Amino acid sequence: MSVIIDGKELAKKIRGNLKIECKELKSKGIKSKLAVIMVGKDPASKVYVRNKSRACEDVGIEYEEHLLDDKTTQKQLIDLIKQLNEDKTVNGILLQSPIPSNLDISEAFRTIIPEKDVDGFNPVNVGKLVLNQDTFVSCTPYGIMKMFEEYNIDLTGKNVVILGRSNIVGKPLIHCCLNRNATVTTCHSKTQNIEQITSKADVLISAIGKAHFVTEDIVKEGAVIIDVGINRLDNGEITGDVDFENVKEKASYITPVPGGVGPMTIAMLMNNVIKATKRQNGMID
Ligand code: NAP
Repeated sequence: MSVIIDGKELAKKIRGNLKIECKELKSKGIKSKLAVIMVGKDPASKVYVRNKSRACEDVGIEYEEHLLDDKTTQKQLIDLIKQLNEDKTVNGILLQSPIPSNLDISEAFRTIIPEKDVDGFNPVNVGKLVLNQDTFVSCTPYGIMKMFEEYNIDLTGKNVVILGRSNIVGKPLIHCCLNRNATVTTCHSKTQNIEQITSKADVLISAIGKAHFVTEDIVKEGAVIIDVGINRLDNGEITGDVDFENVKEKASYITPVPGGVGPMTIAMLMNNVIKATKRQNGMID
């Protein structure tokens, strides 16, 4: 019988603590503000952005939205980011992905100054993560590390297998796990005999976006299973990458979808905005 990791409850606890921190900052006359840029009308992004604005409201962080239409040019996007970099009232900047394919997202992420890069996508912050230095860790991997801490799951010496190598989830996860002394293997769409690799994983993290890809026959008895995937089925239901009902019989710990990694991602974004605010006000290094 596995322990279901309750990301929703843990995220609520983290947000509760941040709320207190935010109040303390306000009592010192310090406000915290997140600026979110969204380009185009991706329906999933609209939902994510709405959830982020609600979380800001809950914690007490000011929220500023910049909705750009899909005809936006690269120059307009970069100019907006530069303007927000300069704006002293903005502590964190987030560019919601995806953006239209004619725009260069790498240049956009590079333009957000590292001090306001609360998503941890600027190459300077990515580099610091690789070097195991204090930085803004991208929110989904950071949320997963918090779950491990909360549930006393020690990665030292563990065989961690990550499915997916995207810049926003898979790659930063590699370094988060390596920094916690795990032995890390990454699989992607060109990996052969994936099931032979997953079946040796003490900890399996799936971030590929394929509904029910991880079935019970490809996981090890007693493995920790973390499901990052968000997939919409034809009936409109949201599901993860893991066949939860069957895999949970074999796992020691498992995250559900929804209610697992998703809420933690937003909680860690709030955490990063507060951290950025404190740093910019000389309260922490
Ligand atoms: P992405 O950029 O599309 O990357 C998907 C990765 O999965 C790629 O590295 C791809 O390999 C790999 N992949 C695809 N099919 C595979 C297969 N059959 N076997 C092995 N690897 C395969 O996606 P992402 O942005 O990382 O997101 C992944 C999933 O997590 C999505 O469902 C997304 O919605 C979800 N997500 C959730 C949260 C959250 O807070 N819960 C946050 C971010 C993303 P190649 O590199 O070879 O193409």
